[in-house]
Amino acid sequence: MSQQGYVATPPYSQAQSGMGGYPAGFGSAPSQPLYGHYGGQPQSFPVPPTGMMKPAPPPTGLPSPPASSHYISNGPSPSSPYHSMSPQAPPQAQQVTNQMGAMNLGYGPPPAPISQALPTSHLAQQPFHSAPPPAMGHPPLGSPCTGPQSHRMPSPQSPPAGQPMGGPPSMGGMGRPYPGPPPPGQFGGQMAGPGMAGPGMAGPGMAGPGMAGPGMAGPFQGGAAQMAGPPQKKLDPDSIPSTTQVIEDDQAKRGGQVYATNVRGQVPPLVTTNFTVQDQGNASPRYMRCTTYSFPCTADLAKQCQVPLATIIKPFATVPKNETPLYVVNHGEAGPIRCNRCKAYMCPYMQFIDGGRRFQCGFCSCVNEVPAFYFQHLDHMGRRVDFYERPELSLGSYEFVATLDYCKNNKSASPPAYIFMIDVSYANVKSGLVRLICEELKTLLDNLPREEGAESSTVKVGFVTYNKILHFYNVKSALAQPQMMVVSDMAEMFVPLLDGFLVNFQESCSVINNLLDQIPDMFADTNESETVFAPVIQAGVEALKAAECSGKLFIFHSSIPTAEAPGKLKNRDDKKLINTEKEKTLFQPQKGLYEQLSKDCVAQGCSVDLFLFPSQYVDMATMGDVSTHTGGTVHKYSNFQLELDGEHFLSDLRKDVRKAIGFDAIMRVRFRATDFFGAVHMNNTTDVEMAAVDCDKAVTVEFKHDDTLSEETGALMQCALLYTTISGQRRLRIHNLSLNCSSQLSELYKSCETDALINFFAKSAYRAMLNQPLKTVREILVNQTAHMLACYRKNCASPSAASQLILPDAMKVFPIYMNSLMKTGPLVGSAELSTDDRAHQRLSVMAMGVEETQLLLYPRLVPLHNMDVASDVLPAPVRCSEERLTDAGMFLLENGHSLFLWLGQACTPELVQSIFNVPSLAHMPSDLSSLPVLDNPQSKKLRSMIEALLDQRPKSMKLLIVRQKDRSEMLFRQHLVEDKGLHGGASYMDFLCYVHREIRNLLT
Ligand SMILES: [Zn+2]
Repeated sequence: MSQQGYVATPPYSQAQSGMGGYPAGFGSAPSQPLYGHYGGQPQSFPVPPTGMMKPAPPPTGLPSPPASSHYISNGPSPSSPYHSMSPQAPPQAQQVTNQMGAMNLGYGPPPAPISQALPTSHLAQQPFHSAPPPAMGHPPLGSPCTGPQSHRMPSPQSPPAGQPMGGPPSMGGMGRPYPGPPPPGQFGGQMAGPGMAGPGMAGPGMAGPGMAGPGMAGPFQGGAAQMAGPPQKKLDPDSIPSTTQVIEDDQAKRGGQVYATNVRGQVPPLVTTNFTVQDQGNASPRYMRCTTYSFPCTADLAKQCQVPLATIIKPFATVPKNETPLYVVNHGEAGPIRCNRCKAYMCPYMQFIDGGRRFQCGFCSCVNEVPAFYFQHLDHMGRRVDFYERPELSLGSYEFVATLDYCKNNKSASPPAYIFMIDVSYANVKSGLVRLICEELKTLLDNLPREEGAESSTVKVGFVTYNKILHFYNVKSALAQPQMMVVSDMAEMFVPLLDGFLVNFQESCSVINNLLDQIPDMFADTNESETVFAPVIQAGVEALKAAECSGKLFIFHSSIPTAEAPGKLKNRDDKKLINTEKEKTLFQPQKGLYEQLSKDCVAQGCSVDLFLFPSQYVDMATMGDVSTHTGGTVHKYSNFQLELDGEHFLSDLRKDVRKAIGFDAIMRVRFRATDFFGAVHMNNTTDVEMAAVDCDKAVTVEFKHDDTLSEETGALMQCALLYTTISGQRRLRIHNLSLNCSSQLSELYKSCETDALINFFAKSAYRAMLNQPLKTVREILVNQTAHMLACYRKNCASPSAASQLILPDAMKVFPIYMNSLMKTGPLVGSAELSTDDRAHQRLSVMAMGVEETQLLLYPRLVPLHNMDVASDVLPAPVRCSEERLTDAGMFLLENGHSLFLWLGQACTPELVQSIFNVPSLAHMPSDLSSLPVLDNPQSKKLRSMIEALLDQRPKSMKLLIVRQKDRSEMLFRQHLVEDKGLHGGASYMDFLCYVHREIRNLLT
């Protein structure tokens, strides 16, 4: 098996030409060297002297860097196989040069390198002092404020070198049960630089060009005078930008409104805001969101700011009922109309000319003949008179019916099949899981997805049970009893029956129900505890292959596959590797067979959904690998207990079986896509192959910038997804989006979307951790945060004291998200966390859309003790910090994966009684996992709130009830992302101070 990652991707520079997917003028092979890639040595951070705009080209013949190195964007991409395991990387020095060259923030005398920069852990452990700017000869940006030169703040304390970020949290001798935020007074004002601490920080005055407005006014606002002397004021946590406030403000400003997509480069409302989309020529933000809606005109600008240019595409996103579903356009045998040169599909960006006889492509400017059947006259505006009758002329999103040319082997596709594969080894039988699944399937299969308006589903179903061997079932409708066929040769997997294995549920209903009744009893007395895994997937693929259809495998599996068979795994969990160079190996999947399986699955359009019920380590990194490459989902229920976890699992299963999905998909983005992240398999550099893509899966596409874009035409992108519908029809789903281009960086920063940026960074970092030490990954996150903000400060902000932290309005909560990201399980490097849990989170995030990453990295913390039961409006969430909790309070915390109900120890008996029906907290059962159904307004309100939440989220969440000071409170507290991380990582405040200092270092 190849050691190079299973995607034989040529370097982008090779693939670019001749792909046909790139418009002229965009597609020239990147000739510039890499820069800003992941892997730079952040410790050494010399800013290049003025004028050193471009990094030196890399020596020829260097091995390509691993895919993960694309951490900082905008660079011409080197070869980037998805999840490449390539051990080679370009020499570090090269990358440093590149990274720094790109930044070009240097002016004035050569600054002190940030080699003294501390890994963030240090801050987390140290009372933080706001560093003064070095006493340089002149203030940055010619600021009139001369304060910084004359009044130096105390220097930050130097922490011991080499202390890993992910170390155990320091209690700091504070005698506090958890390393939450420091108690009042700890800061002792060490932070205070002018502006840094004003209450206006969180306000609008914080950001945007021309900043230092009224919002900056505050106790620390001002110049030299206030900087002098040891500051004594404690920094008010309310003074730093608040995510909940940003969310609230956007909801107040844009909530409840209609968002019409007729304006190029328009920044949509936040993902958290409730709004209605009206498609008027650009794709809904539910389908596509961008890191910025104004791309820089030149590659140099792109490099300078280091803001990634990316779009997060969720091609099958669910749209609310009040929004129009996609129109389907059918041009019959002619098929969709496309540009002859770049193959872009007919869309609002095609300009009709010559009386309507020809059209000019918006992507490549090629002039094409209009086919006779498609001809239409133009009106006095030069617009086709059928403009509003044709979705492909007037809308951002629509579908085309694809012709045979778009089908595999020019044969029309068949409806997909769902195969249910149940591990019937001892653990699953004993826990009652096998019986639970079988019972559920009897009703669930009535709800298989169907075409809109269709009477029944055309999806076929099949059943397999297995432990060390596989049992296939013949459930042909003509049979009185199901028949079992056993395959025990795991080395040569084959499907022992064709006819009768994949059937229509309605037709075979009685045989299937008969089978589902029998399965739990058949294996009731099993002693078999060993399982196979890879052969199970192999069997599923073979079955689909034989039936010539795509489909999905639902695998319900209990343990690490140790039985003698291909794909056998062993326990390779080793906590000693944590915080070492080799930690990454814990997250790298086993190569070889599993790679091949992924390939086979993608080729067949076979998606793998894995439901895991482990009681110990299962090598999640490997077991989940096929799922993540096939558009599948991995669900994990550790130490599954029927009574506590049954409902949670069943609701996941129901959602999974019913959800909207397309199979055998190929996605191509026209623009200059350089890099893809997601639950995808990359076959070449422009196409993303997905065995399936469902309504929750998003692909993050990074764009490269190696040319000049025009302000006039803007940047156009078209995402075309070819797929098979649930009824077996081949279709093309088209999403178009037009962005602005500007030669002003201020426009770019103004049009940024923090939530989208964070999605990009999360996926980049989680991919990079397969190839790089976590410490490096975290450091690059910090450095890039500082770079992006420093560039804004230098180029876009009005002059002000260097000691003022100035953030772009659109990115003012960017630092809290970045800090939260670094504290997530996968990146934190703590031996206290389960390796499988970390791997699971890593895999889950790779397929997430913007809503999910936003919520994951900034959970909702909702106070419930004062809720107005009469109101429909939910209580406003508060900041995720221990400081917001109150002893008499009750709070709901939710991040899309975990759901907590936290009870303060001084909760009133009335509240406890109304929710739990017990007189006090002490009377509560310890393992409560759901709320009793009580007939009072508080109970009803809370339960309906939770129900609504669960309904909104792609995955089900198990409710955990924690009491203040209980052991289980740790689980809850790790989600208080503004506080110090329980397993390492700085508090928001400390992180912001640190970033501020980095910015100042970059600017001096
Ligand atoms: Zn074209």
